[in-house]
Amino acid sequence: MSFENLNLHPAIVKAVLAAGYTAPTPIQQQAIPDLIAGHDVMASAQTGTGKTAAFMLPALHRLATPAQIRGRGPRILVLTPTRELALQVSDAASKYGKFLPRINVVSILGGMPYPLQNKLLSQTVDVLVATPGRLIDHIERGRIDFSRLEMLVLDEADRMLDMGFIQDVERIALSTPATRQTLLFSATLDVAIEKIATRLLKAPKRIQVAAQHTKLDHIEQRMHYVDDLTHKNRLLDHLLRDTTIKQAIVFTATKRDADSLADNLSSQGHKAAAMHGDMTQRERTRTLTGLRQGRLKILVATDVAARGIDIADITHVINFDLPKFAEDYVHRIGRTGRAGASGIAVSFASGKDVAHLKRIERFTGNRFEFHVIPGIEPRTKPRFGRSDDKPGRRPSSSAAAHKTRRSWSDNPNTRTASPGHRGDKDAGFGQPFGRETRKRPFRDSKFNSADRFARTE
Ligand code: AMP
Repeated sequence: MSFENLNLHPAIVKAVLAAGYTAPTPIQQQAIPDLIAGHDVMASAQTGTGKTAAFMLPALHRLATPAQIRGRGPRILVLTPTRELALQVSDAASKYGKFLPRINVVSILGGMPYPLQNKLLSQTVDVLVATPGRLIDHIERGRIDFSRLEMLVLDEADRMLDMGFIQDVERIALSTPATRQTLLFSATLDVAIEKIATRLLKAPKRIQVAAQHTKLDHIEQRMHYVDDLTHKNRLLDHLLRDTTIKQAIVFTATKRDADSLADNLSSQGHKAAAMHGDMTQRERTRTLTGLRQGRLKILVATDVAARGIDIADITHVINFDLPKFAEDYVHRIGRTGRAGASGIAVSFASGKDVAHLKRIERFTGNRFEFHVIPGIEPRTKPRFGRSDDKPGRRPSSSAAAHKTRRSWSDNPNTRTASPGHRGDKDAGFGQPFGRETRKRPFRDSKFNSADRFARTE
């Protein structure tokens, strides 16, 4: 299948080929014909599958035909959960629409000045990409005319649901014409998403792309069992010395942790910065530009802030804290291995993470083996599968250690090299427990977490 076979406007095919794409991805092959035929579509597709082009190419195809209704309001509206994703979608619209005559793409995001947005909205808009909260503000002030709207796209609908935006999304949908075509993209299509689809979509075609684990093949995933925060810091310190890292994203669970860790890494001489939802749009854009231009090497981020980041030089993702949701794990590690490159994703899991790890394994179909780095082995045995690790039970000692207040700057291990890795040829991203490492701290094959889960389920 080629792009020429999809009946897209020749100017769009030209732009796609100019972007270096040789063939449509599976989600594009499935969605584009249905969308050109005018059907509503609900698709389960992760980031990295080419889902943006799957909806943007047919959206632009519509714009190649003059609007039926006179006016200045948008003909295409894309709602996204985060500002970064919105900017990514806007860029994609401009990139794929560059050979079409005069496509005006406008982004309306929280954290940006109203006067500029008012000015942008007073002009003719073709594609409007927005985060729901700010768009509602403009709708309430009567600044948006949806009479020309032909297509509404809900991108990462599951995330908008998680972030509490769904009521806003429904209100926005209600203020658009009922004749619109509606598209819903989501990592998972669960009951909550189905309910939204029932309310907002008409007889949608359903599209599901191949199971996720086949799409993560180009990302090497490594899991380290950790004793506590000090151990995490020692491992991180070691991992960041790897000379094969071009750029890395380190994920933390909270905004405060992202700030402290970034400060600490900077004070150790790393070109590091934090990015999270408490920062203004200007700060986030500056940080992202620094990363894109190579002035920053390490981004310490929370889930929301890092969604949608698409930078080819990100060779490593480190989950300093495991994400709460399995989908976020996939989103996170999908920040590496972009544009056909391979990537490495390293995660830290402690005794308290049993449920998270289990969910991630189920979701990705990947069975983790724990890796160890000689000299920085965990002192304690992994506690996965033990009854006292079950949620609601008394936390294990390692879990308790995680509850202590975090302070990277107080931790001497983050400043000094970890024993065993200086001059160690294998220093780098560790090795799985195999024949040569089995004599190290844990001797039994039950160390494979999947085996342990099998026994406890
Ligand atoms: P997305 O899933 O929309 O975040 O897209 C992931 C990446 O795939 C982006 O960097 C796109 O530029 C790229 N991409 C989208 N469609 C194709 C294609 N047909 N061939 C190659 N790369 C693509």
